[in-house]
Amino acid sequence: MRKLTYEQDLAPLEARYETLFTTTLEDGTPWSPFWGFEIGAGWAALVSEMLAEIEAQNLEITICNIREKWGRLDVLYWTQDADIEPIINRAGKRAAQTCKLCGNSPRFDHPIDWELCLCKPCWDNWPAKSKVPLPDAE
Ligand SMILES: [Zn+2]
Repeated sequence: MRKLTYEQDLAPLEARYETLFTTTLEDGTPWSPFWGFEIGAGWAALVSEMLAEIEAQNLEITICNIREKWGRLDVLYWTQDADIEPIINRAGKRAAQTCKLCGNSPRFDHPIDWELCLCKPCWDNWPAKSKVPLPDAE
């Protein structure tokens, strides 16, 4: 399987779901507050499905950011529509079980870098993993 990348797997979603990332200013000018995906490409499939679901529900929404925060999917948006919550919660649950690099599951919970949402093989190849054990892990 090829390596998932931002350019191939995430960037096209911004164009595909452009209306979800754009609002209209008072003078009628379209404007996007979206500043890109700050997630690993392994989450592209579940984020794509989340965006498709939001589009299908025809929710009035402007998505500002889709990011990983402390190993979890975090979506920032403007809307008055409460129907968004279950859609984002479902995607968040999937993300919590999906490797952010390769898209495989299950996620491997390493006791040190617990905020890294990686599978075991990706964890083993992760160059920046912490070498310092937790104080009580000795
Ligand atoms: Zn992986």
